[in-house]
Amino acid sequence: MGSIKVLDSAIQNKIAAGEVVERPSSVVKELVENSIDANASQVEVFIEESGMKQIRIVDNGDGIHHTDGPLLFQRHATSKIGTDYDLFQIRSLGFRGEALASIGAVAKVTVETNHMEGNPVFIRFEGGKLMEQTPGKERKGTDITITELFYNTPARLKYMRSMRTESGKIIDVIQRMALAYPNISFRLILDHSEKVMTKGNGNLKEVISDIYGLNIARHAVAFEAEDADFRIQGFLIRPEINRSNRNYLNISINRRFIRSFKLSQSIINGYHTLLPKDKYPIAVIDITMDPKLVDVNVHPAKTEVRFSKERELNQLLEKTVRSHMKGEMLIPDVAKKS
Ligand code: ADP
Ligand code: MG
Repeated sequence: MGSIKVLDSAIQNKIAAGEVVERPSSVVKELVENSIDANASQVEVFIEESGMKQIRIVDNGDGIHHTDGPLLFQRHATSKIGTDYDLFQIRSLGFRGEALASIGAVAKVTVETNHMEGNPVFIRFEGGKLMEQTPGKERKGTDITITELFYNTPARLKYMRSMRTESGKIIDVIQRMALAYPNISFRLILDHSEKVMTKGNGNLKEVISDIYGLNIARHAVAFEAEDADFRIQGFLIRPEINRSNRNYLNISINRRFIRSFKLSQSIINGYHTLLPKDKYPIAVIDITMDPKLVDVNVHPAKTEVRFSKERELNQLLEKTVRSHMKGEMLIPDVAKKS
């Protein structure tokens, strides 16, 4: 008799959770992505004890149909794609149908939601099992609460407890989301203190001010460029204001914030000698492209992507930043004087 067997779904989900929801900030990212995909215009995030005690996300999006309850925590169950044709042109932030299954496998979750065509419903899910689904209160959107994260994965729990704090990472996620979505109002409350608040009125410069402060916003220069494949737009902060690391480079592709060493380097190269040695710029940049040109299915966390025209994109970005900064430096820094 052979010795290979298929693991039951609870263990499958726990294994996936290791990658998909590595830490509290990744849970926050996945849940906020779901709110955005559900067309929310308002997303509120309440965190207690760096997410280890509680992560709660309240949105005013489309909600979840009550009949979808049993599928919500099932792995590879998604409303966002259906065919492999869709997989190669992703238009939503989520598509893997893994986040809730993973979170539900390593935490206790409650969901209160209401879909326009369904009934309000309350769902409780624990350690990979649907414990309760009952009629809920009338509401718009979804209110999801995660408690006791990693309660049944002892090593991860111990590791997280040994971390000083996860708060900085959670703030970073919400700031990047807010900068990528100026038309959505974000609010982040950490242990009852408000850390992020944006209005959602579509004005990116105001979001920059809300996130980085008025002075940086006053030094922000709007820029855009377009070629046959890409449209780049956003704000570059004048080089007099700079930072000693690359964390202030906010790059999103079709509004998905990503990490890309090469694109960051193109921006830095574009500033060229305008920056002091070992200093890095502050920038908020969104690049719009045909989703067929970008592969987001590279890593479960979806912050790494692959481009099919990477060299062209890097060249366009560097050239655009360079020409805007050069032109800008000919103009006296009015913001600083006024
Ligand atoms: P994915 O986002 O990849 O589809 P998830 O596990 O994150 O997978 O979510 C599963 C499904 O649950 C989504 O496809 C969506 O239909 C639904 N969902 C999750 N969160 C929300 C939300 N806040 N509002 C509306 N629907 C949601
Ligand atoms: Mg998702």
